[in-house]
Amino acid sequence: MKTIIEPFRIKVVEPIRMTTREEREEVLRAARFNVFAIRARDVLIDLLTDSGTGAMSSLQWAAMMQGDESYAGAESFYRFEKRMKELTGFPYILPTHQGRAAERILFELVGGKGKVVPNNNHFDTTRANIEHSGAEAIDLVIDEGKQPTVRHPFKGNMDINKLEQLIHRVGADRIPLCMVTVTDNSDGGQPVSLENLRAVRGVCDRHGIPFFLDACRFAENAYLIKLREPGQAQRSVREIVRDMFDLADGATISAKKDGLVNIGGVLLFKDEDLLRRAGELLILTEGFVTYGGLAGRDLEAMAQGFEEVVHEDYLAYRIRSTAYLGEKLLEIGYQIIEPPGGHAIYVDAGHLCPHIPPAQFPGQALVCALYRHAGIRAVEIGSVMFGTDTYTPSTELVRLAIPRRAYTQSHIDYVAEACAELFEQRQSFAGLRMTNKPSALRHFTAEFEEIISP
Ligand SMILES: *Cc1c(COP(=O)(O)O)cnc(C)c1O
Repeated sequence: MKTIIEPFRIKVVEPIRMTTREEREEVLRAARFNVFAIRARDVLIDLLTDSGTGAMSSLQWAAMMQGDESYAGAESFYRFEKRMKELTGFPYILPTHQGRAAERILFELVGGKGKVVPNNNHFDTTRANIEHSGAEAIDLVIDEGKQPTVRHPFKGNMDINKLEQLIHRVGADRIPLCMVTVTDNSDGGQPVSLENLRAVRGVCDRHGIPFFLDACRFAENAYLIKLREPGQAQRSVREIVRDMFDLADGATISAKKDGLVNIGGVLLFKDEDLLRRAGELLILTEGFVTYGGLAGRDLEAMAQGFEEVVHEDYLAYRIRSTAYLGEKLLEIGYQIIEPPGGHAIYVDAGHLCPHIPPAQFPGQALVCALYRHAGIRAVEIGSVMFGTDTYTPSTELVRLAIPRRAYTQSHIDYVAEACAELFEQRQSFAGLRMTNKPSALRHFTAEFEEIISP
């Protein structure tokens, strides 16, 4: 048997609504060509993000009925804590309402003016929380990680020489911790090898710097290690996951990804003093240490989700279904970030639409075309998201993120078909003018108009 099938059958269905092209045209105009302003009911296939958009299993829904909603000491917390300890080996576990809450607490404790935090690639909320504390966030991914068509198996790896140079330049005492993001979301969902994590750990040890993981997609990373790293094929994902966490002193996790839930996050430590200080901050803004801003039932869903995510039939299906879309787009002629990452396919819109300059947002033009043509919602990761009046990012990408367990192969075939039709029409895509420029995180609220050539 060659076909890797969805390892589940469907018990509950949620209808999605087909709209007409005329309706979508009107919706797109009313949203001022920003798909964040479109109501979800007007979207057919929503590939905006894989965060919190997955489907829960029957066991997760069943577990939610056992939610203990006690303010302090709820059984749900102890079940969640036990599962996280077994999975990661970390002795100290705090729940948070999502990943960025864990980041905010961590960097309020260790960040601050004059501090420098290296990472392979900071995710945008991680960077924002580091910078909010007054510290500086520095990206040190290997050079191959920045070259879209280079097929390196671990494009999320940190450049060890660059890390050594940074430590030499700023001094270890200004680096409160070194972080590595698995998988590297900001650069195509690319994995980090165990060998690289060990090397980072070695450098951190030599300089007395704590090492943390941004482990939102730890299971996808572990499965890609199993597939791609020499000597790992025969090992279980659980063992590989454990190796990854064993190398670190702590981690932040958004459970909206590999926790297989719609809301939740985790902060994990080995250091008891950090736990105590983090617990104080948690109580200040999130909630008591045994619920962290979540309901007991959310903790139950997470406990079960973190178990299911390391099942290898699930991961085989997950990684294969993302690669499947990537391969179809490559066949059509799209340039994508290669090889396909774990959770999303990133299309190079600059390559697709050389007639649209970065100042007219080729990525946003493709995002609009996908919605207008087929009701598909994607997100621009280029000049809209990261550009400023004085800065143009090096790539104009569009991310097609795959929600977990939510869409079937025929949905993905539909997306590929739409992309094939759009490929033929690519020269007709219109550039855009930004008519409302928010000062920060502008992709969420920017407004546009189409530049119609005479
Ligand atoms: C999603 C994400 C976060 C932030 O998590 P939220 O739950 O959205 O707050 C941090 N890091 C990475 C790599 C992520 O993908």
